[in-house]
Amino acid sequence: MATSPPRIAILGAGPIGLEAGLYARQLKLPYTIFEQGRIGEHVMRWGHVKLFSPFGMNTTSLGRKAVASTRLDPGFPADDQFVTGREHIERYLTPLAEVLRDRIKTESRVVSIGRAGLYKHEGVGDPARAKSPFVLVLREKQLERYEEADVILDCTGSYSHHRWLGPSGLLALGEAQAEPSIAYGLPDILGDVKRDYINKAILVIGAGYSAATTVCSLAKLSLEHNSTWTTWVSRSPQTQPLRRIPNDPLRERDKLAVSANLLATRDDDNVEYRANTVVEQIEVLQQNQGFRVMLRTGNQKKPLEVEKIIANVGYTPDRTIYRELQIHECYASFGPMKLAAALMGQKSNDCMKQVCHGPESLRNPEPNYFILGAKSFGRNAQFLLRLGFEQVRDVFTLITGDAKVDLYRA
Ligand SMILES: Cc1cc2nc3c(=O)[nH]c(=O)nc-3n(C[C@H](O)[C@H](O)[C@H](O)COP(=O)(O)OP(=O)(O)OC[C@H]3O[C@@H](n4cnc5c(N)ncnc54)[C@H](O)[C@@H]3O)c2cc1C
Repeated sequence: MATSPPRIAILGAGPIGLEAGLYARQLKLPYTIFEQGRIGEHVMRWGHVKLFSPFGMNTTSLGRKAVASTRLDPGFPADDQFVTGREHIERYLTPLAEVLRDRIKTESRVVSIGRAGLYKHEGVGDPARAKSPFVLVLREKQLERYEEADVILDCTGSYSHHRWLGPSGLLALGEAQAEPSIAYGLPDILGDVKRDYINKAILVIGAGYSAATTVCSLAKLSLEHNSTWTTWVSRSPQTQPLRRIPNDPLRERDKLAVSANLLATRDDDNVEYRANTVVEQIEVLQQNQGFRVMLRTGNQKKPLEVEKIIANVGYTPDRTIYRELQIHECYASFGPMKLAAALMGQKSNDCMKQVCHGPESLRNPEPNYFILGAKSFGRNAQFLLRLGFEQVRDVFTLITGDAKVDLYRA
């Protein structure tokens, strides 16, 4: 490393970035957390959604101790309680960030990272690259500046970067022009954007838990405002879009799957589900009149006019940050290769069955660049916070060179 102790730059103040900060603080290592928005920015964006893992699983002994040691301790919910994203921020992430506050820079976006004096193609796979510090380009309120670090913990998640909604993950024709008017993600349909959806015709695309959350909220809205109409499409040929996990240990998740599947099969509550259907084309109509879309079911094309589109088609990691570095990515998931290969070996679809793959799975050809948290899974949506906490523990064994460092056990 260029300096000792190594200067650690943590990218992102989400649950895993904050946990990494706490770990560094405890080990008395110099660190800075750079966050493009607010504390827990991504979680805040889906803050109205209830987490399906219970509170106890979303926190660590280290975090709880740190929060409890301050006068800010808001009192924790019970371990088996299910809280929303917003409540998780209020009850846990915000007080945690307070403990780290002098080392967190909010509204500080990491634009790209390179190695001082080295290009991407130089010293291929050579550990000697570690002798040159990383150089970060930061954008802070329109001003740009450089900053150096010896270790990067990239915890930037993937929620800021949606995938395209067309066939095979491609752009639907016209989607790029329509993009600013499409909701990608989880709008708070029963909360702050309710007025936008009342008595509207809405197209929802996707067949995962996010689409299930969206459709259940729209169905609820239609009970109060009965001209709210949802067309739900998915490329899946199944009549029940959500694949339930047998004996799902996360009961909130299973409840959601059951409710969404019922809506799809009953054709009730103003929800019409179309399986085996893709969106091929989107045209934005003049004067805020909504969209004309072309749906394809098998070989049959059918136009549809809707006023709103919600695309729950997943997210993809931002790879531009490390474009000038030697990061080995999986060609299927865009996750870091070693971890992606280990994940591919897992048979179960259930994220509860995922295990951590140890410190070595976090290494990259670029020395001291580590991708942690949701981003480490790339497009694989099976990441759970508890796995991220274990990654934090593992990465600090690599940074300190001490395989026994385990602040959770201590
Ligand atoms: C709707 C939803 C529900 C979920 N429910 C659960 C659940 O119940 N249980 C569970 O264990 N997991 C759940 N997850 C999965 C996962 O745990 C969360 O996505 C979690 O937020 C991941 O934490 P993270 O810290 O890795 O990333 P994020 O929370 O995504 O945080 C990344 C942070 O990095 C910042 N950032 C991004 N780019 C930059 C940049 N260039 N420069 C600086 N900062 C940047 C972002 O603003 C953000 O604050 C859920 C995910 C979603 C989307």
